[in-house]
Amino acid sequence: MFDTHVHTSISGDCNMPIEDAIKRAKALGMGMIVTDHMDIKYPKDNLFVFDVDDFFNRYEKYRSDKVLLGIEMGLRSDVIEENRNLEKNYDFDYVLGSIHVVNSVDIYEEKFYLEKSKREAYLEYFNGMLDGVRENEFIDSLAHIDYIGRYARYDDREIYYNDHREIIDEILREVAMREKSLEINTRRLGNRNTLDELFNIYKRFHELGGKTVTIGSDGHTTDSIGSNFKGAMELASSCNLRPVYYKRRKCEYL
Ligand SMILES: [Zn+2]
Ligand SMILES: [Zn+2]
Repeated sequence: MFDTHVHTSISGDCNMPIEDAIKRAKALGMGMIVTDHMDIKYPKDNLFVFDVDDFFNRYEKYRSDKVLLGIEMGLRSDVIEENRNLEKNYDFDYVLGSIHVVNSVDIYEEKFYLEKSKREAYLEYFNGMLDGVRENEFIDSLAHIDYIGRYARYDDREIYYNDHREIIDEILREVAMREKSLEINTRRLGNRNTLDELFNIYKRFHELGGKTVTIGSDGHTTDSIGSNFKGAMELASSCNLRPVYYKRRKCEYL
């Protein structure tokens, strides 16, 4: 098993030393991929930008078959070239593409939702995601399709496939057509209802030609590494999707 989405203290929002993450993954008998945040031109203080040369200088010595070095890139239309240059010029094992900021606002922030119905906010989010997938053909996997379900400011934050069928289909079709993976982010999988709703999305991914998923905890602390992986594996197999990870940018089957 591989946790393909683990942050370390290089990420602006994480204090976990890489040594602690490695120790925890090893104790669980898992491999892991470091995916620190790189959201170039993040609206606030370069909070999620790091020095890639420094990253490789510090972390190369930890690299092994079980510890791989990737990156979580924030996808936005104004940083396509910058992201592409990083992907081209550095020896990452894995490039995970994420939507965190849409129309200059991090959807983590309340202001993204102000004066918007849930439908409007979710549509804006998914449109940003569709652009991200179309414009960044070099990513290996699309991260946390359900990210907005963590932070939206509505009584019911769940994503219902049938409420956004058309735009979700377009995203899934694009990922499948490019033979990329769709991440199963385990952060929200502790909830049965969420698992049931996500099933509809991942099943649809398979129907539209999708074949592979990456499974990642998005861990920022040691206790989140590997969490809810059982549910994620069950979700993958019930949707006929194959869990994979990436090493030297090549898809490896688990
Ligand atoms: Zn993320
Ligand atoms: Zn992350």
